[in-house]
Amino acid sequence: MATGQRTEAHRARRAAGIPDTRVTLQAGLEVGGREFVVFAGPCAIESGEQVEATARAVHAAGAQAMRGGAFKPRTSPYAFQGLGEPGLKLFAEASHRLGMPVVSEVMDASQIPLMLDYVDVLQVGARNMQNFTLLRALSKARKPVLLKRGLSATIDEWLLASEYLLDGGNTQVILCERGIRTFESATRNTLDLSAVAWVKRHSHLPVIVDPSHATGVRELVIPMSLAAAAAGADGLLVEVHPEPAQALCDGAQALTPALFSTLMQALAPVLSAVGRTLPLPERVGPAMASGATR
Ligand code: PEP
Ligand code: MN
Repeated sequence: MATGQRTEAHRARRAAGIPDTRVTLQAGLEVGGREFVVFAGPCAIESGEQVEATARAVHAAGAQAMRGGAFKPRTSPYAFQGLGEPGLKLFAEASHRLGMPVVSEVMDASQIPLMLDYVDVLQVGARNMQNFTLLRALSKARKPVLLKRGLSATIDEWLLASEYLLDGGNTQVILCERGIRTFESATRNTLDLSAVAWVKRHSHLPVIVDPSHATGVRELVIPMSLAAAAAGADGLLVEVHPEPAQALCDGAQALTPALFSTLMQALAPVLSAVGRTLPLPERVGPAMASGATR
């Protein structure tokens, strides 16, 4: 670093004359504009049937994009690690069939070329937020990056991590608040919604919220999603599984398709109260809109 160079986050900071960043997922779909964007799908891609069932359900309920992991960062090396490339293939097929862009986690710089073939947005997981080699490599990728906040990262550290992407030339960055480690143990993490409001005020980057990892508790996902929308988030990253009890990963926090549909319906009035829109497409029929509470 040359002396006199600025070391604080400055490319990520809001400044006079700098418009809010809009991240383009596909033609006509951007994160960071008026439209609230929901990425929904399983924690991990498990099988063709599971991906297909989830994709159909979240698409029918109005999600604009899908999430799903093929490379899973698991606390235990004995836990399911993800399907790898065959999983990405299943995911991309479902995404193309339904015209929904997808986000999936990249754990290592060596996986970037493979991921670019299959996904629209590259996710950096909480455990990798300060993997600076990975961030530098992603700064050269020509696809958007979803940067999750680290488990114990301050807002400043999070913005400095985004700075690696911006400084290297990738301006298509979405931040994701996914809860932080605190003394609280009733929930998996503590959802820091003040961070969302703070970052919206001090940065031009879009911020979405992951209420699934933030709480770890299915019943808390809808209320925290609504709170995130009210706090000014630009979208959500939500785990949905057709049969949460059978999930190979994070079943306790997965919404069922019916609950996901309930969430989408409940978001509309909250978003309209804060001047945002959630274009529920025509595919959301009355059958989806009513009585789906399980
Ligand atoms: C995920 O979204 O699949 C995930 C592993 O989340 P996090 O990195 O926030 O723990
Ligand atoms: Mn998960």
